[in-house]
Amino acid sequence: MSDLIIIGAGIAGATVAHAAKEAGLKVTVLERDSICSGGSHAAGAFLSPKISKPSPYKTLLNRALAYSLAFYEKNFPDLLHKSGLWKLPLDTEDTKRLQSYEPYIDITWERKGDGYFFPNAGIVDPHKVCEALLAGVTLHEKSNVVSLHRDEAAWIACDDRGRSHRARYLVLATGSAPDLIPLPCLRRKNIGGYRYDVCFDGQEKITCNIHKDYSISTFLQKEHKTIVGATHIREKIDLENAAREDRYRLIERASETVPMPDVQILKSYTGYRNFSFDYFPILGPAVDARSTLEAFPAIQKGARVPPERYCYYPDLYLHTALGSRGFVFAPWLATMLIEAIIHKKAIDTPLLPATRFRKWAQKRQKL
Ligand SMILES: Cc1cc2nc3c(=O)[nH]c(=O)nc-3n(C[C@H](O)[C@H](O)[C@H](O)COP(=O)(O)OP(=O)(O)OC[C@H]3O[C@@H](n4cnc5c(N)ncnc54)[C@H](O)[C@@H]3O)c2cc1C
Repeated sequence: MSDLIIIGAGIAGATVAHAAKEAGLKVTVLERDSICSGGSHAAGAFLSPKISKPSPYKTLLNRALAYSLAFYEKNFPDLLHKSGLWKLPLDTEDTKRLQSYEPYIDITWERKGDGYFFPNAGIVDPHKVCEALLAGVTLHEKSNVVSLHRDEAAWIACDDRGRSHRARYLVLATGSAPDLIPLPCLRRKNIGGYRYDVCFDGQEKITCNIHKDYSISTFLQKEHKTIVGATHIREKIDLENAAREDRYRLIERASETVPMPDVQILKSYTGYRNFSFDYFPILGPAVDARSTLEAFPAIQKGARVPPERYCYYPDLYLHTALGSRGFVFAPWLATMLIEAIIHKKAIDTPLLPATRFRKWAQKRQKL
């Protein structure tokens, strides 16, 4: 029997597996498809800063960025590409807005044309990073978990082939897939996207990664490829079709910044980003909303019950809703999660499911 089962082998699951293995836990990862096949499959995966007014989200993101850059550099230096990122404004309004944020930029930068150059920003290879993180971990691919049960000592995860796995701890890192347990207080939204590997004449002349409302990356130059990404699609459409037709004119828009003569699309990638409604990732013990409301119905009328008295699914944790910055957030949050599981260290309050539960419970009329 393992100590920990992780469901999902995207960047969230893979980073938790790595942190748990480093901490000496015996880990099993169950993945319904293959390594890095959900949203992580479609990611660029840029490690870039947020430029905005000070806000709790910006502070969290830029702390995560510093952590993840150091993490990839230490553990997987060959998979991290740091040729810097040139952020370009969208238009004159955006130029003014970005200028007003200059005093708050908290990562090394310099001016480049009408944009901002971040020499330390980077990009990683999503597939190779997930594979490297999962090295030495027991992994079952094509294992679609369809039910979860709990006995007095352990969780039992059953997949659609009738196989079952037991462990004391369970982490759900299932990205945009439907929840395997009821989590009514953690409603999320999915935003689709596609990106391409392309080749075109003169692509070797691009010297750094470029970010506007699309990105162009030199990461695969040695393989004579350029990465162009990514669209943000809120409508419910067939992403594969949209990518096939380039319905959102990604190549045309990117060509306005970097001309792409004789461009050929070599490969397209599609996937969904999963967002919480407050945009913060979701990390930590999962609240059993129904049992908590039964125990403390007055919460709905505004009564303050300390979160430690809520009812939780025993030993069940979430690592999800990484939005459009999964490769930035995941390493830091995974470390935080494993320290919370093993050493009972605190998780940052805005990330906790319990924080969302209280707000949700106060808004609702009845379960
Ligand atoms: C087009 C696009 C571009 C992006 N670009 C960037 C970028 O440049 N930088 C960046 O940091 N982020 C980027 N992102 C966001 C990033 O990809 C996500 O934040 C991240 O991949 C989420 O990782 P995850 O592990 O939470 O989810 P996923 O990668 O979706 O992984 C979840 C895994 O769980 C598995 N699973 C689900 N249910 C079950 C089940 N019942 N049983 C077994 N397995 C299950 C799925 O098959 C999947 O493999 C981009 C996303 C998209 C769509």
